[in-house]
Amino acid sequence: MLRRSIYKTPAQLRAMVEPGLITAAALDAVRALVAPGVTTGALDAAASEAIVSRGARSNFQLVRGYRHTICASVNEQVVHGIPGDRMLEPGDIVSIDCGAEYKGWNGDSAFTVVVPDPSRPELVAQRERLSEVTRGSLWAGIAALASASHLGQVGAAIQDYIEANAPEGGYGILRDYVGHGIGRKMHESPSIFNYRTPEPGAEVRPGLAVAIEPMVVAGDQATFTEDDDWTVSTLDGSSGSHWEHSVAVHDQGVWVLTAPDGGAAELARFGVTPQPIA
Ligand code: MG
Ligand code: MG
Repeated sequence: MLRRSIYKTPAQLRAMVEPGLITAAALDAVRALVAPGVTTGALDAAASEAIVSRGARSNFQLVRGYRHTICASVNEQVVHGIPGDRMLEPGDIVSIDCGAEYKGWNGDSAFTVVVPDPSRPELVAQRERLSEVTRGSLWAGIAALASASHLGQVGAAIQDYIEANAPEGGYGILRDYVGHGIGRKMHESPSIFNYRTPEPGAEVRPGLAVAIEPMVVAGDQATFTEDDDWTVSTLDGSSGSHWEHSVAVHDQGVWVLTAPDGGAAELARFGVTPQPIA
């Protein structure tokens, strides 16, 4: 069997713009619904409606054994939480991961949100800081990708950002779960680590399409899989956060496929201007 190159043609990268935008629209639909009393199953239904109504399909449902459109991970759950009848409560930190496949190409993206709780400002502030640092590390990683020679520089930038911005005691970075190439399949080679590695990693050059997704916890990085065989939770019960974007590297620069502005607003503070795929 021929091994598919990890580098895509400009036409293939262009085909990834639409599934990226559909993924972003699905996450927007979920974000608008997040409130106390809303079930994670209702969030899943909103994402499904957003994807199907745009002529796309959920790529999470193409993962063997998974029947849902999103993963919804609450509090000590970091990733792969299964949506259902759990109701969101004030103060919950919730990570939503979603992807769409359109005309044979994939998008994959995630965000974290804290449900407002005026009665527990300290808890909310702690959890919002965790989410903000995770989000910032994702954008630091994307900014690094714009000028990197090898993918290892992305992981180093993510780790450096987290270490520079975490509160005293530090945050944990999940080691067992990493980002990935994306294209015809949601999960392709190569792996994108969220931390410094001894190996330099694959060469960064035009044609690369990757999903960068730091998974960060307020305590120790050790996790376990819950009895449902999916949900990944922290062993110490500390909160988790997960942010993700799919990003293309092309002749003119980088373009964030799962952000409607290509990442322009967020990348400005890193001095990076994303370029549309010509
Ligand atoms: Mg994802
Ligand atoms: Mg992913």
